[in-house]
Amino acid sequence: MKVLSVASEIFPLVKTGGLADVAGALPIALKKFGVETKTLVPGYPVVMRAIKDAEERLRFDDLLGEHASVLEAHYQGLDVLVLDAPAFFDRAGGPYLDATGKDYSDNWRRFAALSLAGAEIASGLMPGWRPDLVHVHDWQAALTPVYMRYHPVPELPSILTIHNIAFQGQFDASIFPGLRLPDHAFSVDAVEYYGHVGYLKGGLKTAWAVTTVSPSYAMEIEGSEFGMGLEGVVNSRVGSLYGIVNGIDQDIWNPGKDPYIVQQYGTANLKNRQENRKSIAEFFRLHDDNAPIFCIISRLTWQKGMDVVASGVDQIVAMGGKLAVLGTGDPAIEGALLAAAARHPGRVGVSIGYNEPMSHLMQAGCDAIIIPSRFEPCGLTQLYGLRYGCVPIVARTGGLNDTVIDANHAALAAKTATGIQFYPVTAEGLIQAVRRAMALYADQKVWTQLQKQGMKTDVSWEKSAERYADLYSSFDPKGQ
Ligand code: ADP
Repeated sequence: MKVLSVASEIFPLVKTGGLADVAGALPIALKKFGVETKTLVPGYPVVMRAIKDAEERLRFDDLLGEHASVLEAHYQGLDVLVLDAPAFFDRAGGPYLDATGKDYSDNWRRFAALSLAGAEIASGLMPGWRPDLVHVHDWQAALTPVYMRYHPVPELPSILTIHNIAFQGQFDASIFPGLRLPDHAFSVDAVEYYGHVGYLKGGLKTAWAVTTVSPSYAMEIEGSEFGMGLEGVVNSRVGSLYGIVNGIDQDIWNPGKDPYIVQQYGTANLKNRQENRKSIAEFFRLHDDNAPIFCIISRLTWQKGMDVVASGVDQIVAMGGKLAVLGTGDPAIEGALLAAAARHPGRVGVSIGYNEPMSHLMQAGCDAIIIPSRFEPCGLTQLYGLRYGCVPIVARTGGLNDTVIDANHAALAAKTATGIQFYPVTAEGLIQAVRRAMALYADQKVWTQLQKQGMKTDVSWEKSAERYADLYSSFDPKGQ
């Protein structure tokens, strides 16, 4: 089966979050189910620099008013179609934000162009290759099924995956003519959303099926607490809404051969983690004593509960814990965490920035990872934590709820526990969870059991890729 995936980021070419990891890992995991994926991504400067021997496959003289072409390239096992459109993507700054951290004012046009290019490829415009199905990710690609619906060429099945319903791509109605959709697309059945244009909303209405990245989150977004205003639209699709939990790339995230860590290890030689731990203590200037090192690797935002960490940090230290934080985000939260590091030298270390190698070393050397998200569609860092014996301490929400087994009395007795869950996401909730972790850590036999059970957990793409493959083939006339 041939699948066109459309995504605004893909690891290892360009990544700002979990979407990139999924867009990069799923095509590889799907190969063994007979699915051949080509992924359409924007030609940001980092992408253009990375692809070599790219071949032009398609040219647009007027893609929403600009020249563009589609280049095909192979990169680390991935087959990518790069939308080379300098007017949209050749600029300093990140994929979505300019160098000063503001959304590009023409994001609506940039990602409409990506989506339209996807729909054109779906219609067979690219010589020699036409997909059997189109799989699009998040609001940046969500207009693809909308364009497909109004395209004169017969429609193909389409699947929209929501990685985070908080990001919806909503714009003023005045942009609508610039999308070049027929007038009747500005309706409740397509992109119109309370008088505005909603990209994710349009995708939700027009895709043949909708998936999100965990079963719990699929249920949560049906309600007003987590649906972020789109719960009504989500409810209209419950018959074709699926929750499929993400896996991780076990080659990249493998403590047995990870090149970013000081000492490799597995369940049989967990003591080797010690060298990684020392290295973490040095980097974050933490005392090299026996107190547990809790870590955070995260966007420093309200969603991730990072304000709650900033409020609870003094008590974590007072209980004897140490904290290492790696992340970037909300300047107020960054400031509060840096101030905590200044108050607690040797106990709290904060590194502001994005540092992929350090994120591996932290999973390999810290004792536990704290993930206090207010909502979490799936979450990946708890999966890396499980794989690396860095015990996850998580809020009981979304994918965190689906992937971590709380160390309650029964689970400990049955030796099935893999971490700690807590609720609500408040400083008190977090402190109580850390207190439970400290008590478990004090009994190293119990702690090691938790680590090993986590490391044995199946966090691969195997089962989830099979579920996507099943969903794909349910739309494939050849596969019936
Ligand atoms: P989200 O996509 O909502 O940010 P996820 O947990 O799904 O959250 O994915 C976050 C990804 O980004 C993980 O791979 C995590 O390791 C990585 N990450 C987050 N912050 C940093 C950072 N400061 N440095 C390195 N990697 C980071």
